[in-house]
Amino acid sequence: MSPHATPSAPPSLLHPDQAIALLLAKVSPVADTEVVLLSDAFDRVLAEDLASHIDLPPFDNSSMDGYALRFADLEPTQQQSRLQLIGNAFAGHGFTGKAQPHSCVRIMTGAPVPAGYDTVQMQEETHAQGEWITINHPKGVGANVRRRGEELHQGTKVLNAGTQIGAAELGVLATIGISQVRVYRRLKVAFFSTGDELRPVGSELAPGQIYDSNRYAIQGLLRRAGVESLDLGVIADDPEAIRHAFRTAASQADMVLTSGGVSVGDADFTKQILEEEGQIDFWKLAIKPGKPFAMGRIGKAVFCGLPGNPVSSMVTFYKLVWPILNKMQGLTPTAPLLVNASLTTPVRKHPGRVEYQRGILTRNAQGELKVAITGSQGSGMLTSMSLANCFVILAQEQGDTPAGATVTVEPFNSVLC
Ligand code: AMP
Ligand code: MG
Repeated sequence: MSPHATPSAPPSLLHPDQAIALLLAKVSPVADTEVVLLSDAFDRVLAEDLASHIDLPPFDNSSMDGYALRFADLEPTQQQSRLQLIGNAFAGHGFTGKAQPHSCVRIMTGAPVPAGYDTVQMQEETHAQGEWITINHPKGVGANVRRRGEELHQGTKVLNAGTQIGAAELGVLATIGISQVRVYRRLKVAFFSTGDELRPVGSELAPGQIYDSNRYAIQGLLRRAGVESLDLGVIADDPEAIRHAFRTAASQADMVLTSGGVSVGDADFTKQILEEEGQIDFWKLAIKPGKPFAMGRIGKAVFCGLPGNPVSSMVTFYKLVWPILNKMQGLTPTAPLLVNASLTTPVRKHPGRVEYQRGILTRNAQGELKVAITGSQGSGMLTSMSLANCFVILAQEQGDTPAGATVTVEPFNSVLC
């Protein structure tokens, strides 16, 4: 054991839920915001509440192709009435004439309901003979009319600060005519892998070497997390190289993210350098995969150190780093959607840690949710992640679990898909 390694008495393992709360308390949202065009706003996080300046819909309009009429003109006791056609209303070009008793106006979907008319009869329930339109089986007054303000009134809040702008939000903002929005500044995350054994893809492997896969997986995760990333490559297990990488990263980024070198014994350089250049805490989490995790600060940047094992690094990113990034970029947190599913394969587990086993969730012909474990669950076996579409979450105290048991499943969300 090196002189810098963690002292011998192992700290008790922290439950991941407790860990998340403690880690989140250490960061706050970026203070800076900027105004961007709606066309550049996808994936950004709103920094202001937004209210509508208009009623929605802005005017009474037809939800059907048919005939606008005055409901009072219909024969109250009859299944049929005849009305005289006096004009047309198209979407974008309303009827400009004057309402007449016992008349109707041909109207298309989205066209303004002409003043003086209150109801639309769908075309399929009419019969036209020249200028005379028979109305069959009329519905009630106001049928097929989308009323001004029925979705929302001018002044109603439409989106809250902290919302990530996705496709629906872009559409909602356009619906109310918003052309630019204030969003949080995009976060920048610098990341590098550590390890003398790591080689970049495209090179030959000498004995004892492996390809650096984490950097690619992390790049994908960061892209999905909506942050700008700065790839600083593979850094050797060498104190001065690591010091240089930390300084470069911290001068340019809001977060410095590393993989490898945070487990007991070989964490020396990360720990030593960060103690000299900033501050670092080591966390032993009751989570599998992903027990070791480090967090600290260097300069103005937050530091997160992922374990080197590829599955561990993805799981700890997802459970810990992603919530931290979300808080830093101003996002309102949302709880993951969990579902119950029946195991189709037995699960092996020792009590002691919460396990995030990788699973494949399906729905059978009866509509029941079934989940199978993706084979071997070694924390280095990244194929278990690419085969999976969900985590099977097994509680800390749980042991081996037979096929047929009901388990908690967390389907992969946008950051893992
Ligand atoms: P460490 O956390 O540095 O002790 O590494 C734990 C395990 O993960 C070792 O088997 C490493 O070789 C492996 N590992 C570390 N970094 C990477 C990486 N970037 N890509 C693939 N495997 C890695
Ligand atoms: Mg290492």
